[in-house]
Amino acid sequence: MVHQVDQSKDVLKQDEQFVWHSMKPYNPNLTMVVTSAKGAWVTDINGNKYLDAMAGLWCVNTGYGRTELAEAAYDQLKEMAYYPLTHSHLPAVKLAEKLNEMLGGDYVIFFSNSGSEANEAAFKIARQYHQQRGQHNRYKIVSRYRSYHGNSMGALAATGQAQRKYKYEPLAPGFLHVSPPDTYRMLDSDLENAQDMACVKEVDRTMTWELSETVAAMIMEPIITGGGVLMPPDGYMKAVKEICEKHGALLIVDEVICGFGRTGKPFGFMNYEVQPDIITMAKGITSAYLPLSATAVKKEVYEAFKGNDEYDFFRHINTFGGNPAACALALKNLEIMENEKLFVRSKELGDQLLNELLAHLQNNPYVGDVRGKGLLVGIELVKNKATKEPLATGMVNEVIGTCKKNGLIIGKNGVTVEGYNNVLTLAPPLSLEDNDLSFIIQVLTNVLNELYLFES
Ligand code: PLP
Repeated sequence: MVHQVDQSKDVLKQDEQFVWHSMKPYNPNLTMVVTSAKGAWVTDINGNKYLDAMAGLWCVNTGYGRTELAEAAYDQLKEMAYYPLTHSHLPAVKLAEKLNEMLGGDYVIFFSNSGSEANEAAFKIARQYHQQRGQHNRYKIVSRYRSYHGNSMGALAATGQAQRKYKYEPLAPGFLHVSPPDTYRMLDSDLENAQDMACVKEVDRTMTWELSETVAAMIMEPIITGGGVLMPPDGYMKAVKEICEKHGALLIVDEVICGFGRTGKPFGFMNYEVQPDIITMAKGITSAYLPLSATAVKKEVYEAFKGNDEYDFFRHINTFGGNPAACALALKNLEIMENEKLFVRSKELGDQLLNELLAHLQNNPYVGDVRGKGLLVGIELVKNKATKEPLATGMVNEVIGTCKKNGLIIGKNGVTVEGYNNVLTLAPPLSLEDNDLSFIIQVLTNVLNELYLFES
């Protein structure tokens, strides 16, 4: 129901005065004041309801309005609100044990508050690990263009989206980038053998030319999410891991979005037959109810920090990292995921979403590709299906705006360079109901099938 009187005016006036928003020039006409949320739906101050098919920022995995998560945090705050993890507390121990079990049982966990911090910790651990073993020249971190790894000076340096770095440089030195796979634009013959793929050979060549003995690690998401839902071709991730091993570099897998069921498995890498050396996670760990992130580190890497030298331990401190209430809430969140079999649900609903979108949109002249895994889907819009020329940003924004007018929030990839800003994204809560799924498909296909109306 759309309310006649706009209740948001006064709030937005104050908002404009006091709140600095991220990622876009401030525009009160586009700013929504959200006041409540339940399941996959959010309600604005005017009472308008929207299905949030982006789960906030790809993060409210178990859905909004779970009172049991609030209670888990409340109970822990009453019992023991805070103690730093320079010592220990029960919620952190239990959560670390649980995460280790989910990862296959060979990891120790370092807690922080955000995905960026989890990645910063991973880079420092990787660099110090090599130092601990006497390999003093290994500091370079390889990552991929189009990836996003966070907002801090190291994580942004690892990020492969130049427009996010513009005006903030120089960032941390020692970060290199290679091309990501783009299966939609690769030829079928390019996809046959992972070892022969240009994007795989580039990793090998870069590590060779940079000198293996200077490379500390490679960081990658299993599927590049914000950069355009770029699916790894068969064998790609395994081939990259083998190249890392050949060059003595660690593989850091960024599971900040792909973790906790997003791709239909507990962690995204589990789709691709690799076991990473370091795994970073955030967002879905608490379904974003409280800030928390983790850097899971293989035992053998951790063991290298047990020397007797004054500088042998990991000298990295984080005041709020592993906050007891956030850990207690995360444990409850994981329990909900298990009880409601949300990883399986993500796979099943994701398959259904993908198949139905493919069926409904196969004759749509603007839909070049529909791809994804679990409840992570990208729809690449093109001007011309034969040439794959990307659709103009203005038209992509029309789709997003029209979906919103019809009660559906969808996203798009974060690369703002014209020509690389043409992928619609879907990452709804995994607790999505069947009706919600039908609503997403119905609104999105209707809007896309009327897209020609916006053609100038
Ligand atoms: N890694 C990936 C893949 C992300 O998508 C993000 C954020 O969107 C981050 C890291 C950084 O996480 P945060 O915003 O919690 O610092």
